[in-house]
Amino acid sequence: PDPSPKKPGLLGRIFGGDAKEAEPRRVLDDAMLESLEELLISSDMGVDTALRVTANLAEGRMGRKLSVSEIKSLLAAEIARIMEPVAKPLPIYPKKPQVVLVVGVNGSGKTTTIGKLASQFRAAGKQVVIAAGDTFRAAAVEQLQVWGERAGVPVLTAPEGSDPASLAFDAMKKAEEDGADLLMIDTAGRLQNRADLMEELAKIVRVIRKRDDTAPHNTLLVLDATTGQNALQQVDVFRKISDVSGLVMTKLDGTAKGGVLVALADRFGLPIHAIGVGEQIDDLAPFDPEEFAQALVG
Ligand code: GDP
Repeated sequence: PDPSPKKPGLLGRIFGGDAKEAEPRRVLDDAMLESLEELLISSDMGVDTALRVTANLAEGRMGRKLSVSEIKSLLAAEIARIMEPVAKPLPIYPKKPQVVLVVGVNGSGKTTTIGKLASQFRAAGKQVVIAAGDTFRAAAVEQLQVWGERAGVPVLTAPEGSDPASLAFDAMKKAEEDGADLLMIDTAGRLQNRADLMEELAKIVRVIRKRDDTAPHNTLLVLDATTGQNALQQVDVFRKISDVSGLVMTKLDGTAKGGVLVALADRFGLPIHAIGVGEQIDDLAPFDPEEFAQALVG
C-alpha cells in the first residue's frame, strides 16, 4: 500500500503542484509566513503548532529569497522533526499473550484496525486471538468475525448485551491455553455515557489482571483523521477513562486534515503506531514521519 496521505499537498494549493512551474524565488516575509500559517491551520494542525512550525522555518531566513521547492522541504523538515519522536511501531513484549486493548469512539475504525493488525501479526508468524468486546453492538461483533475470517484468526464473541469483562476473561484463558502471542480486545465506543464506559473499561482491565497483573500491555486509541481537531478532544477524553499507550490514526487516505497528527504529536507526544490508509486488509502502514511530512506539504 501507498502509506502517504492521498490528497493535494498544502503548498500545492497556493503555489501549484509542479515546483518547476513556480521556479521564481519568493521573499520570505511576513505576508508569506502568514499564508503558510493559514495553510497549516487549514490542515487542522492547530494554531499553536502552526505558529511554532512557521517560526522555526523563519528563524534566520527572513528576507531571504527561496524557491517553492526550498520552502516545501524546509516546511517538511520542520514537521518531520515534530513527528519523529512519536513514530514507533507497536512495542512487542515477550509476554504471552501480549494483551492489546483497543479503544476509540464508534466509527473511528477500531474493528477494521484490529482486523488489519491481526492480519499483519499472522503474516509475521504470530498466533492471534481477538475478543469482540463491544458486546452491545451486534454489527460490530459480526464485522469483527468477518475480519477474523479474512485474517485467519479466531474471534471470541459473547451473547449480545453480556458483560464484556467476562468475555475478556474467557478470551485471556483461551489465548493462554492456545499459547497465543497476542490477544486483541475490542471495546465499546459509546462516549454518550462516559462514566459507564470508564467503568466498563476499568472492569475489563481488573478482570484480565487476575490472569496477568502486567496486562493490558498496550492500550491503543484509534482515531479518525477526518474528524480533524476533534481527535484532540478524543485523546483528552480517552486518557481520562483509560491508560492510552499509543495511537492509530485511520482514514489518512483522502483527507486534507492530516495536520491534526502534527498537533497530536506536539501536544500529547503519544506514539503513533500505525496509520490507516484505506478499507482493505493491507491498508495499515507504519507511520513514516518524513513521508508524511512531504505528502502533507505536497
Ligand atoms: P469502529 O466502529 O470503530 O469499529 O469502526 P469500523 O472499523 O467499523 O470503521 C468504520 C468505517 O471506516 C468503515 O466503513 C471502515 O471501512 C472505514 N475505515 C476504517 N479505517 C479506514 C481507513 O484507514 N481508511 C478508510 N478510507 N476507511 C477506513
